Amino acid sequence: MSATQSFRDRLILDEAEGAWWDQSRRYLLIRPDALMGIFRELPADRRGEAFAALARSITRQGADSARAYRAMGGEGAGLLDIVASTAPQLGWGRWQFSLEPGMLRLTVANSPFAAGYGPSDVPVCHPIRGMMAAVGEMVLDRPVTVVETACAAMGAPDCRFEARPADGPAAQ
Ligand SMILES: [Zn+2]
Repeated sequence: MSATQSFRDRLILDEAEGAWWDQSRRYLLIRPDALMGIFRELPADRRGEAFAALARSITRQGADSARAYRAMGGEGAGLLDIVASTAPQLGWGRWQFSLEPGMLRLTVANSPFAAGYGPSDVPVCHPIRGMMAAVGEMVLDRPVTVVETACAAMGAPDCRFEARPADGPAAQ
């Protein structure tokens, strides 16, 4: 059944055209150090703006993916299960969600973005933050603010994220 078919099962390589596809969604393999090198190339005072733009872009496209996952039968905790099982197949580390009243937590082990960026004094996993904003909005049914509260690039054992309603009293 389609709800249990994994991303890896859906992924098709059209080698003649040089393209990976998950249904209508095209994918690209890129080295994390090459991707994250974009931000190392930028002057420090422009890096934050670029990181924020990447997060917003991932939120937009990630919402499209999340809607497709929901259409496959993933609602609420089911959607979280699909996203958490898809992430490692994308090479985005091991994801574990925890849905709590009014907030969503995510722990990611082995983030490719932290590994690709290298040591940092600020969190760097903005693609994950962007995807969590898309998923958090669907699961909590309102716009959310996502914060990466610990990052492996800063020496933490795992990367940790919290999504809270953007307009809620607990928003930070
Ligand atoms: Zn991180």
